[in-house]
Amino acid sequence: MKKYTDQHRGGACSTETNSINGKPVLLRPNARTVLNLKSRAFAEKLLCDSSHDNEGVTLNPGDACVFRCSFCYVGLQMIKVDKPILENFNAGRRARGEHELGFEDVVIRRPDPVGLLRKQLLHGNGRSRFPDPDDNRVIFGSTLVDVAGTMELLRETASLANLMLNNTAWQIRLLSKSNLLARLFSDNLIPERHRHRLILGFSTGTLSDDVAAAIEVGTARVSKRIRALHWLQDEGYRTFGMICPSLPPPDGDYERFSREICEAIRIDRCEHVWAEVINLRGKSLVRTLAGLHQAGLRREADALSAVMGSSNKAAWERYARDTFCAHTRHVPADKLRFLQYVDDSTAAWWAGQRKHGAVLLGKAAVKRKLSSIDG
Ligand code: SF4
Repeated sequence: MKKYTDQHRGGACSTETNSINGKPVLLRPNARTVLNLKSRAFAEKLLCDSSHDNEGVTLNPGDACVFRCSFCYVGLQMIKVDKPILENFNAGRRARGEHELGFEDVVIRRPDPVGLLRKQLLHGNGRSRFPDPDDNRVIFGSTLVDVAGTMELLRETASLANLMLNNTAWQIRLLSKSNLLARLFSDNLIPERHRHRLILGFSTGTLSDDVAAAIEVGTARVSKRIRALHWLQDEGYRTFGMICPSLPPPDGDYERFSREICEAIRIDRCEHVWAEVINLRGKSLVRTLAGLHQAGLRREADALSAVMGSSNKAAWERYARDTFCAHTRHVPADKLRFLQYVDDSTAAWWAGQRKHGAVLLGKAAVKRKLSSIDG
């Protein structure tokens, strides 16, 4: 087996300062779980399998990530849970005359995630709570943090994965913005006998290292992620594609954008390919625009600006549809999983695209029974 040795540029974990990527590391001591057994939203996205009750299983070893993506929505989701931790931490900073930090400025981990998982997977006598050998559902990690942000976090992910692999028949889908993910296998962190039960993928919403550096701060260069993906594919491991989030191409050439990115991730070797335009939640667009401007990426910023705001709703919808239609020409329908939030005015058009790979999300989709697990 060819050794995979690529290093990750931004993932150094300093124990002396107890910070990662310049972010202080906090613990949420009241965390009781790392598995969420009621992840309907991610089952709807087809990232994990839904069971009889339409719920999926997701793995979350932490609450706040080592990276800082402009479009990240985790802060919005977790701030209620983590507010006391953050306030306590900021009280200490204020007392020292330091400025307060926001959710995106810190890493929040859960203490003893392997112990928490053991309690969720095993009865007190050590027997598995999920012993069915035919229960080979796919679970997904993570919805809150990057599972391979540093070698320390990757080792934690490996321990969690091995516990699941040894005590269930589940398959595990792992997504990362770090090339370190491939070292699960190249460093033998997962035994060979289990590797066919893992499906690994990297977020690659752009092929430009400059764009990624501007909006996905601290992550590995996209070129490194692609190299890690190719290594996994060349070694015969299972992979999936994740073209998320993709910005409007500055030259308006969606066809070229899709063709180049699909070639880069080798569609034929990916089991499935997820794709999505940038999320509209919170300040994701404003922050992304600011990141592009700060990096001097004016053309990219102008292209995003042109589809933003309440007066550009039609342009926004065109950006989503053009991205989707371009992908349908490069990704077979049974592989494509294009995630699209719909509303009352757009649901009908997208409903007609489900057969080509559109996965409809949001209240309007659920109301019309158009979500992937209802329809
Ligand atoms: S890698 Fe994912 S979880 Fe981490 S900051 Fe980026 S979007 Fe958020």
